[in-house]
Amino acid sequence: MREEHCIFCRIANGEIPSSTIYEDEDFRVFLDLNPATRGHALLVPKEHYGNLFELEDGLCEKAIVLAKRIAGRMKKALGCDGMNLVQNNGEAAGQTVFHFHLHLIPRYQGDTAGITWTPGKASEKELEELVALLSEE
Ligand code: AMP
Ligand code: ZN
Repeated sequence: MREEHCIFCRIANGEIPSSTIYEDEDFRVFLDLNPATRGHALLVPKEHYGNLFELEDGLCEKAIVLAKRIAGRMKKALGCDGMNLVQNNGEAAGQTVFHFHLHLIPRYQGDTAGITWTPGKASEKELEELVALLSEE
């Protein structure tokens, strides 16, 4: 399904022009208009899925394989020193466009992209509780 008012549905399906670097029947990859670094791109399915939890498993598998391929191409062409794959789900996680997308962010030694957090310190008790809570039966 595609949603009429969703900007990424419209970009992915070519209704709104974008700086596309890859397209196939399932996905479009285009350059972010407000890049964190040179070459920052977004990988977007053509069908509407609001986030990772909604995305079909088959497309999920295809997305990561495609991201690997494009990231490899970026590394060669841009000469970047590293690569972040970032994928936000929910407002609390920084999602602003509610159509699944995977950020491909080339990294350059000393660049100013701030993809970081302040490390905490997990206690033994907390780790144990979380293992009990999160492990599959
Ligand atoms: P997120 O915060 O993970 O939802 O990321 C949304 C991203 O989409 C941001 O990095 C925006 O700069 C980018 N973005 C929003 N609208 C457009 C657009 N029309 N073309 C390209 N990138 C866009
Ligand atoms: Zn959409």
